[in-house]
Amino acid sequence: MIPIAEARRFVLSSCRALTPSRMAVGDASGHVLAEPVRATEPVPPFTNSAMDGYAVRAADTVAPPTRLRVVDSLMAGDDAQIFVSAGESVRIMTGAPLPPGADAVCMVELTRVEEGGSIVVVQESVNAGTHVRNAGDDIEAGDEVFGPGTDLGPAHMGVLASLGVDSLLVRPRPVVGVLSTGDELTTSTGPLAPAKIRDANRPALLSRLGADGFGTVDLGTVGDDETALAALLEEAATRCDALVASGGVSVGDRDVVKTVLQKLGGTMTRSMQIAIKPAKPFAFSVLETTGTPVFGLPGNPVSALVSYELLVRPALRAMAGCTVLDRARLAAVADVDLPRSRDGKLHLVRVTARTVEDGVLRVRSSGGQGSHMLRAMADSNALALLPDGDGVHAGERVEVLLLDADRVPASPWEPW
Ligand code: AMP
Ligand code: MG
Repeated sequence: MIPIAEARRFVLSSCRALTPSRMAVGDASGHVLAEPVRATEPVPPFTNSAMDGYAVRAADTVAPPTRLRVVDSLMAGDDAQIFVSAGESVRIMTGAPLPPGADAVCMVELTRVEEGGSIVVVQESVNAGTHVRNAGDDIEAGDEVFGPGTDLGPAHMGVLASLGVDSLLVRPRPVVGVLSTGDELTTSTGPLAPAKIRDANRPALLSRLGADGFGTVDLGTVGDDETALAALLEEAATRCDALVASGGVSVGDRDVVKTVLQKLGGTMTRSMQIAIKPAKPFAFSVLETTGTPVFGLPGNPVSALVSYELLVRPALRAMAGCTVLDRARLAAVADVDLPRSRDGKLHLVRVTARTVEDGVLRVRSSGGQGSHMLRAMADSNALALLPDGDGVHAGERVEVLLLDADRVPASPWEPW
């Protein structure tokens, strides 16, 4: 058995970031930048009001209440034309340009109007700059706003739009082909023939990949047949950036994925026994013909998804150009005992993580922990990492890999 860190290093050393290409900004969300983005204009582009109220000269307001003549009215989108002289003000809405001569804004709540709105009485003094947003407050022209390696999320997309960026050099998201192997598999939803099971791994992996922002190609299922498997992999490699197969990497008589990868990948192939539970067997190869990485995951459904988390996802993220490869690893507290036996492996226990009133993440087993018991994985939102030993007692600290932050119920909660 080899440590997970060694398996991961081997995989990552064989997966290169994909070649970047120029993309319309509207298509770039979720992609990783391959060039710096520089601002060619400031944000905000002009000095403007942060409040609905009156643009004034601060010096006029030193002895409130102050009566000022209202000489203009500016909505967001109106161009400021009129100069504000001593004793004058301009009614102004949030986002409208500060008129020349004015240097502060009195919020409307601290004013009252007289004489049908031609006079405003300012009830408190303001300093120069009060409620004013200066041009370039957020970003100055010439700033490097984002560097290469930035994973473009929603706020990045807003910033790019604010700057008028129209195209970017980004890395493509890998397109991943997924197949299941095994003579026992059926994709039918009709009655099961004797000794057959339904293919759970391909739908689970396709869903996981999609949720993680990768492109997917459904390559279907293939029996334990070396020729058919080799043909499928070679064809799929011409249209996918990476391939993920499940089943057939263990030490059984029909574990053909291992054998086929050896043939197609030669010295770039490695079959491993990793010191983790679940997901001990794993094979990885880079195809000689196309240079496509192929991940051979174990067939047991929980093992396939755990193997994906630890080995496939980080590699695909590296190919996408991401700098953060792994999910958040957090300190939690065991809410119940999480026992285990000594076997030299790191155990990854499917758990439900919650926060109660104190905000501390607390975890419980989410159900049956057999590697064929996918239901407990569906009910979980994290994997508890139990190092070799006797496990963790209730109240003790345990590290978790947070798989699904959207499914961590937040405070306030009923305690369990
Ligand atoms: P293998 O890794 O091929 O030896 O398979 C290990 C176990 O996982 C066996 O019980 C298989 O029947 C089961 N298995 C393999 N592939 C799948 C799949 N796609 N969906 C559900 N179970 C599977
Ligand atoms: Mg099999």
